[in-house]
Amino acid sequence: MSNRPNILLIYTGGTIGMVKDAETGALKAFDFDELLLRIPELKLLDCDIATFSFKEPIDSSNMNPQKWVAMANAIETNYDKFDGFVVLHGSDTMSYSASALSFMLENLGKPVVFTGSQLPIGDLRTDAKENLITAIQIATLKNKNKPLITEVCLYFEYKLYRGNRTTKISAEHFNAFASPNYPAIAESGVHLKVNEELLFHKSGTKKLKVNTAFDDHVVIIKMFPGINESVLQAVLHIPNLKGVVLETYGSGNAPTEDWFIATLEKAIEKGLHVVNVTQCSGGSVNMDKYETGLELKKIGVISGRDITTEAAIAKLMYLLGQQVSPSVFKTIFETAIRGEMS
Ligand code: ASP
Repeated sequence: MSNRPNILLIYTGGTIGMVKDAETGALKAFDFDELLLRIPELKLLDCDIATFSFKEPIDSSNMNPQKWVAMANAIETNYDKFDGFVVLHGSDTMSYSASALSFMLENLGKPVVFTGSQLPIGDLRTDAKENLITAIQIATLKNKNKPLITEVCLYFEYKLYRGNRTTKISAEHFNAFASPNYPAIAESGVHLKVNEELLFHKSGTKKLKVNTAFDDHVVIIKMFPGINESVLQAVLHIPNLKGVVLETYGSGNAPTEDWFIATLEKAIEKGLHVVNVTQCSGGSVNMDKYETGLELKKIGVISGRDITTEAAIAKLMYLLGQQVSPSVFKTIFETAIRGEMS
């Protein structure tokens, strides 16, 4: 048996695996089994690569919790056979999926690296090859014969980030992702430099546990000047709604008008979980800073601190799916469980 690391490539879809249809010019998914033919460079890597493909690869705009479960199951089923996993995924919703998988995969002891590209792998100017090759190399990294990285991360354009800290920032540039509140955990230049002190480590020797129950009775409300009572009422009265991510201004501020606070307060009293995240691209919620934040704190709004919206909605679905008791929901949400907030 060879000592080469075994890597499983999980192909979900996205631009990276598409080719131009010769007749129509439109992008379509190619047969992933041909991957090694299309990227002969992969053979030069010092590892063995196997592939697992979604039966119907998708544009990641069609991503949903069932498909997150399919990814998690593919990892769980193959967990013992492989040293690391690389998930090829469309960039549009990659940060949501990386966040969701970080919560699904409890006690992860191996790397799960999401990557994709802005241009298809067959395009002359593609960014796919570098992203894919380096993501695979990252997934093979070891420290004293053990996987160096034991978390869900995202590699794009020379940077490796913690997945649940990322957000897509550009529909144009190869540098399409940012991690506004947590530094890159590795950078690829002439050398691959991993900032080991930034890595997430599971506690103890617990075995992988895959939590696939996600509850999608949630919504994101983005505050804007002019939001009115009937809009807020309509959203909060969605049947069976259990959780809201409220994207507030600045450090977690929202209107102090009576109707706004009273409507939210009533919903929270009835059991709705409301999480405060900032709509700024960086920084943290601090509901003690302004009166406009303090009012929210007083009525029991949960602080998302510096979590991204993507990670907040995934964590909300995860904790609701775990049926966390209402008495501890706020405390658990406000505690970092996969390094998703500072
Ligand atoms: N629309 C594509 C997707 O997210 C874009 C990409 O792959 O980067 O699937």
